[in-house]
Amino acid sequence: MLSNWHAEDAAVILRAVNSSKIGLSEAEAALRLANNGPNALPEPPPPSTLKRFIRQFHNVLIYVLLGATAITLMLQHYVDAVVIFAVVLINAIIGYVQEGKAESALASLRHMLAPTAVVLRSGNRIEVPAEKLVVGDIVLLEPGARIPADVRLLTCHNLQVQEAVLTGESEAVSKQTEPVAVNTPLGSRASMAYLGTWVTTGQAQGVVVATGTATEFGEIGVMLTEVTRLTTPLVVQTARFSKWLTLIILALALLLLIYASLLELLPFAELFMVMVSLAVAAIPEGLPAVMTITLAVGVQAMARRNAIVRHLPSIETLGAVSVICTDKTGTLTRNEMVVTAVVIADEQFDVTGEGYNPAGEISDVNAIETDPVLQQLARVAVLCNDAELQQQEDNWAVSGDPMEGALVVLAAKIGCSAEHARKQWRRDDLRPFDAEYRYMATLNHSHDGQGFVHVKGAPEQVLSMCSQQQMLHDIQPLNLNYWQQKAEHMAQQGLRVLALAQRRIEPDTVLLDSSDGLENLVLLGLVGIVDPPRAEAVLAVKECQQAGIGVKMITGDHPGTARSIAQQVGIINTDKVLTGADLDKLNDQQFNAVLATTDVFARTSPAHKLRLVKALQAQQHIVAMTGDGVNDAPALKRADVGIVMGIRGSEAAKQAADVVLTDDNFASIVAAVRQGRTVYDNLKKVISWDIPTSVGESMTIIVALLMSMALPITPVQLLWVNLVTAITLGLTLAFEPTEAYSMQRPPRQRSEPLLRASLVWHIVLVSVLFMVGIFGIFQYALGQGYTLDLARSLALNTAVVLEIFHLFFIRNIYGTSLTLHSLRGTRPLWIAVVLIVLAQAAVTYVPALQKLLGTAAIGWRDGLLVLAIGVALLLVVEAEKQVRIRLFNWRL
Ligand code: ADP
Ligand code: MG
Repeated sequence: MLSNWHAEDAAVILRAVNSSKIGLSEAEAALRLANNGPNALPEPPPPSTLKRFIRQFHNVLIYVLLGATAITLMLQHYVDAVVIFAVVLINAIIGYVQEGKAESALASLRHMLAPTAVVLRSGNRIEVPAEKLVVGDIVLLEPGARIPADVRLLTCHNLQVQEAVLTGESEAVSKQTEPVAVNTPLGSRASMAYLGTWVTTGQAQGVVVATGTATEFGEIGVMLTEVTRLTTPLVVQTARFSKWLTLIILALALLLLIYASLLELLPFAELFMVMVSLAVAAIPEGLPAVMTITLAVGVQAMARRNAIVRHLPSIETLGAVSVICTDKTGTLTRNEMVVTAVVIADEQFDVTGEGYNPAGEISDVNAIETDPVLQQLARVAVLCNDAELQQQEDNWAVSGDPMEGALVVLAAKIGCSAEHARKQWRRDDLRPFDAEYRYMATLNHSHDGQGFVHVKGAPEQVLSMCSQQQMLHDIQPLNLNYWQQKAEHMAQQGLRVLALAQRRIEPDTVLLDSSDGLENLVLLGLVGIVDPPRAEAVLAVKECQQAGIGVKMITGDHPGTARSIAQQVGIINTDKVLTGADLDKLNDQQFNAVLATTDVFARTSPAHKLRLVKALQAQQHIVAMTGDGVNDAPALKRADVGIVMGIRGSEAAKQAADVVLTDDNFASIVAAVRQGRTVYDNLKKVISWDIPTSVGESMTIIVALLMSMALPITPVQLLWVNLVTAITLGLTLAFEPTEAYSMQRPPRQRSEPLLRASLVWHIVLVSVLFMVGIFGIFQYALGQGYTLDLARSLALNTAVVLEIFHLFFIRNIYGTSLTLHSLRGTRPLWIAVVLIVLAQAAVTYVPALQKLLGTAAIGWRDGLLVLAIGVALLLVVEAEKQVRIRLFNWRL
């Protein structure tokens, strides 16, 4: 076995790893994978179950509760001690389960984001998970690719690689295929590309010489220690708030304890129990767990809608997005391209056919065989092209760029086989397409020694490189006007236009960069390609408009094409289309001014994206920006939510993005925004439900205590309510669907605080209503001459019923709760309600539990009364909400 890969000739290496230029066969690759294991680095072992469980107890709230358990035991209040400990235990179990759920949600996302590599297997170009690479595989590298293994380069076109992870050197280094000296240090081994480094420019092919832990990267012993926690700003804010609330409640309880014992309102032991139960009721111990579950549910819902969140706080940011800047090609359009028009110097053809099926025709059938210009155009189309057609049964598909696929199809319709032409014409050099200069060029030689430069690209660009045009029998000076008009005309119809040109060169030229490389070209013709808009994009753009979200299209395409597509998908301002060149002429002030009235930007380069993001952010917008290429990374990083195309996008862009779209579809961005708003609403609902409930119940006790009244709910009963309701009922809010109004209102402000005035008001209102309800039924029961136990049973059940009705109310913070649809609820909601009703029935009617909790059986009339109090609460808060929203437009 060789080890100095960098110092050997490429041919020697290929032999050593038992491979060839066309790569391994699938069978051989599978065999090697089975023998040598996957191309993966070890992951740190997950913490043990026990450790994870014990970790749940590491929490201020839990310490407080454990302390209370100990003291309660010392006071010999065994029942209470058991109940408090049960609260602790249940919290820990829920915490444990939610952490597991959250982690598996993240793990499944990581799995979906696994990097891929493009390889040749038996000469076919296919994409495989990087994990499946084996020694001997031929990998294809292009800009933005992450090098998937240690690779000895075989062919190389201007390849530059960023090797900072390995060498610490931040400048990209140039690569080539010649062997280097044996003792060359890692950072200078130009014939190699190493796992974990990045292609910044150029293209190359190489053979895999080491995978997984055998790679240089693996040798360093790097572990993939990616620790991400499921959290967002709102969750952090709430956690901090909960901690403060706990401290305040403890301090208040202590003061109250001192005050009440000085006044001797109750015996000390009893007083202490009251304080403990108060604290347990008031402390929102379940809140963080419930919020994390809400996030996990949201992350999974987004993944189901083809949006994978890489950076978790983005779930929340997504809900606040006020402008979406989107690509056109493939995002708003289907990226299923078909050439429908061909223009040459003195003729014009329509092309028929569906999709990538090469069965189709050129309008003037006679011209096909005879017109030498068409033949040459077809040859350029397939030689200056990296795509391949693949037939799977009756289906034709493209591997590579869909637009290049469309050109291969066109050539086939003209009668030129890509496979045949590529065999006949060897490619000696290549300038790959780049959004910066918008053309692609190849240098090809035929076996009989002819040499040609072939170029295809954006018409303006290619025309500027041409000085002549190909006529039927000769070559004439370029008629610029003619071509510009034709291109403009095609663009206006929404066609994507490409110009094709060529030039004969000296047979011994082998490099494109040579002095006379890319000028004085001979234009062959233009092709027009349809790429229809996605039907769902039209709906999604409309949804954005209702939701107060701006949509801006940023494309490298022609302004005419851009406008036509923008109009078709319903983007608002399409009168004015600004090009990258226009933007460059504007100073920052002018730039800011045009932003408000311009929605379509054409012929832009990635640098313009960055400028747009910055300008929009300066106007207080929260910006989502899409991208795919390696040069989009800065804009993706800068945007509040960087969204990368999962299919089209390069690995480099994926690394920079917050969200990966698995279907490259604009509609999925909008779905993610909708989900983001839903998650935020649900978090808000959790808080808005939990806090007033806790405050209301504890206030009842405090007021009773201070007024020296009999407690309507005993400490142990209060603990019980907390035990059964705090997590179960609140948890159902994690599964709330999107409220209709959620996408009909403008996005929330970036700075929206947790404790808004409306929430404080809601806390006060509901706390008071809880007190009124609980005291009311308690007084009524005492007035009826019921026993204290029965009166307390009624109060206890009323508290639970109030919680349930409040829950039904909080499900609709925008819409009406009193609709049939809303009352139908969700499945988790009804499961929780049924469980709680059963639990309450048990403590109310089962003698053993009655004895334990000091309750008594309730008659059906009083049962109805309890229910009526719940209904009354719902009616009152609902009426209040309607007035609040209609009159003051004031929402939770
Ligand atoms: P977008 O994806 O926003 O439509 P691109 O930056 O991909 O824009 O393309 C911009 C222009 O560059 C296209 O309109 C086309 O004229 C040209 N172009 C795109 N892809 C290629 C390619 N593979 N080879 C040559 N020219 C291309
Ligand atoms: Mg593109």
